[in-house]
Amino acid sequence: MTLAQGRRSSLVALLALGLSALAGAGTASAHSAAGASGGARVVERVSAREMVQTRQRYFGAANVDPSTGAVRRDRVILSWVGVSGFAAAIRGHVLLLDAWVPRGAHSGYVPSSPVELARLRPELIFVGHAHFDHAADATPLAAATGATLIGSAEQCAELQSRAAAVPPRCSAVIAGGAEPGTAARVGAIRGVDVRAVKHLHSAVTRPGGDPTGFHVPVTPLPSTTSLEHPPTPEDLLHIVGHLPDSEAGSVLYRFAFGDFSLVWHDTSGPLVDRSPRTFDALRALRPVDVQVGAIQGFNQVTNGMRDPRMYVEALAPGLLVPQHHDDWAFGITTKGEAYRAPLAAELARIPAARRPPVRFIADPRDYVRPELLTFPVRIDLPRIARRCTRGGRLRVRLGGDLADVRGATVRLGRERARRLGRGVATFRRSAVRRQRGRQIRIRIADFDGSARTLRGRVPRCR
Ligand SMILES: [Zn+2]
Ligand SMILES: [Zn+2]
Repeated sequence: MTLAQGRRSSLVALLALGLSALAGAGTASAHSAAGASGGARVVERVSAREMVQTRQRYFGAANVDPSTGAVRRDRVILSWVGVSGFAAAIRGHVLLLDAWVPRGAHSGYVPSSPVELARLRPELIFVGHAHFDHAADATPLAAATGATLIGSAEQCAELQSRAAAVPPRCSAVIAGGAEPGTAARVGAIRGVDVRAVKHLHSAVTRPGGDPTGFHVPVTPLPSTTSLEHPPTPEDLLHIVGHLPDSEAGSVLYRFAFGDFSLVWHDTSGPLVDRSPRTFDALRALRPVDVQVGAIQGFNQVTNGMRDPRMYVEALAPGLLVPQHHDDWAFGITTKGEAYRAPLAAELARIPAARRPPVRFIADPRDYVRPELLTFPVRIDLPRIARRCTRGGRLRVRLGGDLADVRGATVRLGRERARRLGRGVATFRRSAVRRQRGRQIRIRIADFDGSARTLRGRVPRCR
């Protein structure tokens, strides 16, 4: 064995050992009472001004209303806060995807904090799985903000068990004991079609299972980040307390509205070896515009980037954003840049016509940079639809995507305004004749408190 080989194999062993120790003895989903200390209060009170300023930083000043803090609805905006965690604005709804700001291996490396995430006033916290590097801040953040946790039944039980006092709300979208490949609709966000798929956590499997050939282990050298940003005693205690947090199963999510869909998954399991049927569930989520997926995992020591590539092939996204490759653990992770070449080599196994472009984000420079991950979405905005019906009557309808509309009234010229029940109103012939050529005005009130008026002309109906 050469010196280089010796160093490589010892690194492999160290990586495997370190990752499994850090992740609480591999992928077992046994319930863990240890480490259930996440009840510390994150924040006392958030002022409206703090909320607006924090949202402006995480979602871009141009996308946030400076007086109300409302975020533009025709956007999907993601702000990376480390590992697989993102602050997200989807159709104006503020969410967290996973909830942990990396600390403990270092301090002050990620320009974010649980206090700041609480200031965003998220409505929901989507949990991919419950290991500490994904969910150590989930329970205290839910308790502090009133946000509802979203996950599988096992994840809800695990996260609620970590509460110091009253357990936070958790919506179990995948039933307990469900097989990998189980899919469900999640009705959590108004106007957004959310799907959840139970899949598998990354795990070491025997080399192979890949028609494109064998893999070189991916074992980048550890970095010096912990020396450059040494951890505070408080952060060390935090991470030590959460090391045994259990996985409680893994869930992938797809969010779709207008002409856009996003898939996010915080681990990539060896589906080809252990659950090929889950690929069918992933294929059923197409079309996918953007996949934000974990590329680091246990299997990189034997199967390289095989599993992340197979997720890409199943989802067939228009764009891939890799994550979980940043420097979040003691001595065993390294800076994300080290994954650029191995990922590119792996994706080269996909025929060029089907290979997605990559928007490669890397730590620390791309933390909290919403401008890198802002995606415009075309929504079919509410509009006036008019139709003359029998007997010279006029049917006025509110067309388009009405998910944001709480209520509407319609007014024909000088007629008295009427409520637009179910988005439709019919006017008699006499009213239509009297008001011909005048304006139809539909006043719309949205769920977020905003209002606007649509205008059209009263037509001639015979
Ligand atoms: Zn994990
Ligand atoms: Zn992880």
